[in-house]
Amino acid sequence: MANLTNGFASLQCARLMHIEKVHMQASGLPSLCFRRCAQLDISRLGSMPRFMGARSTCGSQQHVRHRVSPIRASTLSCLQDDTTKFFDFVVIGSGVAGLRYALEVSKHGSVAIITKAEPHESNTNYAQGGVSAVLCPSDSVESHMKDTIVAGAYLCDEETVRIVCTEGPERVKELIAMGASFDHGEDGRLHLAREGGHSHNRIVHSADMTGREIERALLQAVDNDDNISLFGHHFAIDLLTCQKNGEIYCYGVDSIDVETQKVVRFISKVTLLASGGAGHIYPTTTNPPVATGDGIAMSHRAQAVISNMEFVQFHPTALSDEGLPIKPSIRRENAFLITEAVRGDGGILYNQSMERFMPLYDDRAELAPRDVVARSIDDQLKKRGESYVLLDISHRPRDKVLAHFPNIAAECLRYGLDITRQPIPVVPAAHYMCGGVRAGLQGETNVRGLYVAGEVACTGLHGANRLASNSLLEALVFARRAVQPSIDHMLDAGAGADASLAARWARPTLPSPSALGGGGGALSEIVARTRRTRAELQAVMWEYVGIVRSTGRLKQAEWRISDLESEWEAFLFRRGWAPTTVGVEACEMRNLFCCAKLVVKSALARRESRGLHFTEDFPYLEESRRKPTVIFPDAVQELTWSSKPLQRQLQCK
Ligand SMILES: Cc1cc2nc3c(=O)[nH]c(=O)nc-3n(C[C@H](O)[C@H](O)[C@H](O)COP(=O)(O)OP(=O)(O)OC[C@H]3O[C@@H](n4cnc5c(N)ncnc54)[C@H](O)[C@@H]3O)c2cc1C
Repeated sequence: MANLTNGFASLQCARLMHIEKVHMQASGLPSLCFRRCAQLDISRLGSMPRFMGARSTCGSQQHVRHRVSPIRASTLSCLQDDTTKFFDFVVIGSGVAGLRYALEVSKHGSVAIITKAEPHESNTNYAQGGVSAVLCPSDSVESHMKDTIVAGAYLCDEETVRIVCTEGPERVKELIAMGASFDHGEDGRLHLAREGGHSHNRIVHSADMTGREIERALLQAVDNDDNISLFGHHFAIDLLTCQKNGEIYCYGVDSIDVETQKVVRFISKVTLLASGGAGHIYPTTTNPPVATGDGIAMSHRAQAVISNMEFVQFHPTALSDEGLPIKPSIRRENAFLITEAVRGDGGILYNQSMERFMPLYDDRAELAPRDVVARSIDDQLKKRGESYVLLDISHRPRDKVLAHFPNIAAECLRYGLDITRQPIPVVPAAHYMCGGVRAGLQGETNVRGLYVAGEVACTGLHGANRLASNSLLEALVFARRAVQPSIDHMLDAGAGADASLAARWARPTLPSPSALGGGGGALSEIVARTRRTRAELQAVMWEYVGIVRSTGRLKQAEWRISDLESEWEAFLFRRGWAPTTVGVEACEMRNLFCCAKLVVKSALARRESRGLHFTEDFPYLEESRRKPTVIFPDAVQELTWSSKPLQRQLQCK
């Protein structure tokens, strides 16, 4: 699948010069690695069988087509039709990163935001705690930096950390100017909460529904912007790329319009990938169903460099439905999060015998970083054979609890639990992907014209573990930083992204029952098999690639995933799928396979325990291994669909 190095390696790309410098210093690796992958004979890949599957339903979500505004700036707008669209900028994802970026670049050209479900459906919308920023005179950038670097187990990129902590406050003020409303204290100033790992109160929040408020304000601003067209229920399949002079260029993306069941091609001068995380490689996750790692997989297939995938953050305290007085009638798709702020506000963790256990593991007790708390809970559960622990905030004044955590209180009460009187049953759940597409300081990638921001990106901010409330901040800072280079690239591209481009890549097709031979029955079988395979993959990831790992278990995961993938692919082909067939459910499946393999491969490469990656075989941190894991695309790709782009990568003149 990939050529992987543990440690910085030089990216031969002018736009990643700062990374190159750091890489050279950190590892002394020659600049061969990326040059080699950029010069691959990629045309070869086009002859491989390419395949995607189908989705028979699109879930229970309502299909709302969002306003498609007139395109003022695009000179190519007259050429648009149902299946091909031209924009200056295409943004994949409508979370905080995508929306914030779109609102800036729309001042310079036409923008399409494509998003796979309802526009608000994103990790952003579920963020509870808030955005961290130095906004109090007694706080300092240095202190925020130190907390970030300590939480990141000293694997953070210091320059990135400085930039994010320095520019963060301005980005938060801009959000407020755009209409986001955050809580204020009695003195009329912003109320700043405190969370685990932070040495100051610096979390700007809107009760415990901060993400929802940010998403609301940004979507409202997007709705008022005539230069932005928002395409809801459009699933991005693969990036459209070309190879030129040893470099790879991105010219947009193919998508499935889930409502019309048509493939829609978006040709753009600049593409921002803001597609969020990959929580659904695990069975229990706080992420909504849209978080299937599509952007990471898509970029990997497009030859982008991927980094730090072993660092999956498990949130220590997701609501355990099993411990609720009234059990939910249907299994939730995403676990309900009990924010870190509950521990920040004095919440105490107990095992089911009401013994406080955190002081046994760490001096910081409940305020220890997430990885420490998650591992401690995991240890308690395994030792005691219990399935949840208890988080108690009932000793705090009732009015304060209800004022700070209205959403959590309401959700628990729905299932018969009053958090002002009873402890909350909690378990760890997959929460945040620290790794992703390697980004430079302007959000640029090694693929020209492709920028990344938000959870899909690996900027170096989080290192081996994300400090609470640093991700919304990172998304805001990098979405903004990617703007100027995107505009420069758009102007350089000029008429380069012309109409003739649209016809150059083969078009994927949606499955027709007649082509499947068995009619509708074959399609249903494929969908059922895909769902089963997804659950099996998630189970393997939880059992073998969870909070505590070992080399043996990771190797087991590697071969089990490989078997699972081959069996699934073989089944689909036997049922008559063509190599260029696409469908949401199978596209997600191949993306989940791809991300899972990237996590396992990265975890196997890290022969130490650092931050979120804990392995019994190398239980200590090793200074000599304080380097990011970098995955380069390899000349010899595995012959699986998940590792292959659907469209042939072209050689451009
Ligand atoms: C329950 C929860 C609580 C959290 N609390 C906090 C917090 O308090 N503070 C904090 O800083 N962070 C928090 N986080 C993390 C934070 O919310 C995310 O990291 C951040 O919102 C990511 O923003 P984003 O724009 O990168 O991605 P998202 O907000 O996840 O948006 C991704 C977008 O991409 C779209 N997309 C994905 N794949 C495709 C595709 N193939 N085609 C088209 N569209 C696609 C999705 O539909 C979505 O619109 C929390 C996360 C969760 C899940």
